Amino acid sequence: MLIVQNPATDATIAELPQDNAHSIAAKYLAARAAQPVWAALPLPTRIGVLTRFRDALKSDVERLAAILTSETGKPIRQARNEINGLPARIDFFLESTEAAITARDVHKAGGMREQISHEPLGVVANISAWNYPYFVGGNVFVPALLTGNAVLYKPSEFATLSGIEIGALLHRSGVPQSVFAVLVGAGAIGSELIKQPVDGVFFTGSYATGQRIARELGPRMVKLQLELGGKDPIYVRGDVDVAKAAASLADGAMYNTGQSCCSVERIYVYHTIYKDFVKAFVKEVAGFKSGDPAADDTYIGPLTRAPQLDVLERQVADAVAKGAKLVLGGTRLQPPGNWFESTVLTHVDHSMDVMREESFGPIIGIQRVTSDDEAVRLMNDTEYGLTAGVYTQDELRANEILSQLRAGSVYWNCCDRVSPRLPWSGVGHSGIGLTLSTYGIEAFTRPKAWHLKSA
Ligand code: NAD
Repeated sequence: MLIVQNPATDATIAELPQDNAHSIAAKYLAARAAQPVWAALPLPTRIGVLTRFRDALKSDVERLAAILTSETGKPIRQARNEINGLPARIDFFLESTEAAITARDVHKAGGMREQISHEPLGVVANISAWNYPYFVGGNVFVPALLTGNAVLYKPSEFATLSGIEIGALLHRSGVPQSVFAVLVGAGAIGSELIKQPVDGVFFTGSYATGQRIARELGPRMVKLQLELGGKDPIYVRGDVDVAKAAASLADGAMYNTGQSCCSVERIYVYHTIYKDFVKAFVKEVAGFKSGDPAADDTYIGPLTRAPQLDVLERQVADAVAKGAKLVLGGTRLQPPGNWFESTVLTHVDHSMDVMREESFGPIIGIQRVTSDDEAVRLMNDTEYGLTAGVYTQDELRANEILSQLRAGSVYWNCCDRVSPRLPWSGVGHSGIGLTLSTYGIEAFTRPKAWHLKSA
């Protein structure tokens, strides 16, 4: 059985039967048989089905948000934001799929015609994370289904109830059971899933697990996308409105209790405003209400996974031992629940884990810099490369800085932001492949080259 616990209280809220090697093989075979039928439907039919799914989500926000909060500890307003946000992403896919995958002639001359068509990959595995199950799941299964694939969806073991709800809503909207199957279980079930002869694996999660999956799939030449972690930096130049920048970045660092792949994880501040910025930032963070995630006014909840408490505790101890100053929080709270104080460290540097390793919690290091060049060098001093940004009033300088940053997404005067119209990708240990944008629709297809000569 998979035991689902409420991370705010440790109470058991569900015990679910898990998949096993036999049930996974059966779901794979059913998906393999059903996929060509699903792919042969006219695109408007699949669009109609996913439109019903979008509408079903919109009319069920309160119930779905309560379930998401109960199993992940995500504060209820943020759970509502996530579920309310998915329909807008679905709209982008509904509007853009036809143009992205319609076969097109690319050359015609001397009786020769060259055409590109987009074939569905076939049966794809979607192994998902718990921090935004609706967003990171939807980025994969919505375009995968629209483009004619069958999906074997393994939600995180920390967001399984939401994964089951997603499956039920898709089925009620008209996706056949075999075309979208939910697999219940932890890492061992994900590992079993990728042993099946699937045509693509779309994974969202940690670098460590991504590496394991890449090792397993490399020799098999299976299409693989990995959306992994980050250590996302922001540089605050000396010309900003300090209070405004601090408010924006406090939200970017602490939203979802710091458990977003694109959470701000490190901040570099120009020396002339360093003191003022730290003061304004700490004031913002201290004002965030922590507590019962089901309460409407809660902003900071528990961590979803208990082991992350050890990571945060180690990062604080390591930083303080190396000379950092703890200006807010820093302590794990007594159980029940996975609680850690919102934490701000100053006088940090890159010898400290808190500036190098993903924290994935309500903790941030703020480092002083004396030039734009130093900030750029430090921002790029990471194995990761998911997002990075700069706050400044100088647009020209912002462009120069952003163009030097080694990251999949760059931000000017904003952070912790994802758009369905822009590709979501990472550099280095942040992963390979992408979701979202029209590229993230094509990702679920195989371009086929047609060389056509009239006799
Ligand atoms: P995780 O790697 O622990 O688990 C992710 C998924 O992989 C889960 O469903 C898990 O059951 C499964 N899994 C574990 N071991 C497996 C194995 N050997 N084979 C197959 N599947 C296996 O990650 P998590 O804790 O769920 O997510 C947090 C991480 O995800 C963070 O590093 C975060 O930055 C990253 N993330 C990245 C993005 C992005 O878009 N780049 C989005 C969300 C989260």
